[in-house]
Amino acid sequence: MKQAHAAAGTSERSGLPARPRPSDGTNQRFGAHLSVAGGLHLAFDAAVRIGCDCLQIFVKNQRQWSARPLSEEQIRAWREAEAGCNVRPVVAHASYLLNLASPDSAARRKSIAALVDELTRCEALGVSGLVVHPGAHMGEGVDSGIRRICESLDEAHHATRGFSVRVLLETTAGQGTSLGHEIRQIGRMVEGVRESERLGVCLDTCHLFAAGYDLRDGEAYGRMMDELAAHVGLARIACIHTNDSKGGCGSRLDRHEHVTKGAIGRGGFANILNDPRLALVPRILETPKGVDGRSVDLDRVNIQRMKRLIMSRGLSQSK
Ligand SMILES: [Zn+2]
Ligand SMILES: [Zn+2]
Repeated sequence: MKQAHAAAGTSERSGLPARPRPSDGTNQRFGAHLSVAGGLHLAFDAAVRIGCDCLQIFVKNQRQWSARPLSEEQIRAWREAEAGCNVRPVVAHASYLLNLASPDSAARRKSIAALVDELTRCEALGVSGLVVHPGAHMGEGVDSGIRRICESLDEAHHATRGFSVRVLLETTAGQGTSLGHEIRQIGRMVEGVRESERLGVCLDTCHLFAAGYDLRDGEAYGRMMDELAAHVGLARIACIHTNDSKGGCGSRLDRHEHVTKGAIGRGGFANILNDPRLALVPRILETPKGVDGRSVDLDRVNIQRMKRLIMSRGLSQSK
């Protein structure tokens, strides 16, 4: 993802900001979070069937703490399926039970151990990133929450020395005491972790919008991108969850809606999808599943909607 913001740099010849090249969407990768019911490797079949270029999965039951280790057989089947298609990158989403910021030290220890277990699974499968919600401070305050998250990540890094999978901190909607709803908070986490080169970031459009970043407004969108560049670094953005939002801007509601069918709408998605600085970042849906009136898979419908927005709006929306 290192080239992700190359197009926003300066032109070598003139020294002026490079003019973004129009994109027809063909160099962009779209995918979805898909089920691994029946076997991890089956997610690749589903991805190909739906028309996904990239993929997100759970590497264990996301609502349980423990799981049996992956077997050689599972890993072999996964590697074979992966080699047989062009679906990449694959990222995983960590369990919702983790709270790396917990003031309860037993809960935090359990979360760190679970994170290490998930990273170990990812590494065995060759999954490039594990999306993690940073955590909730549970009333202890933002500063101590962020400090605990950094300590937890340091411990997890220590326990997974030499791994190539990265933790991808996800921006959150800011429900309750959850951290990561301000880009600056994510920036402080990155800054506070010893091996910060092992951290990436996952943007979730629904969460950003619910947290108060108005993706629909060109100026607000530009300010958000400036904040990301200043506090996180655009090269660190490893995936984008392209979810529309049932709740309004600043509602702090984490309720996903189909692309362009929620409060973010066409304008907001056009800003994100046509931003050349994000063109090479994989876009992954976490929108409701099912089929439309013509029995077309809804993930396929949402991917087509995104591609159409790229072709129809060009590069006019973002600054
Ligand atoms: Zn998430
Ligand atoms: Zn998400």
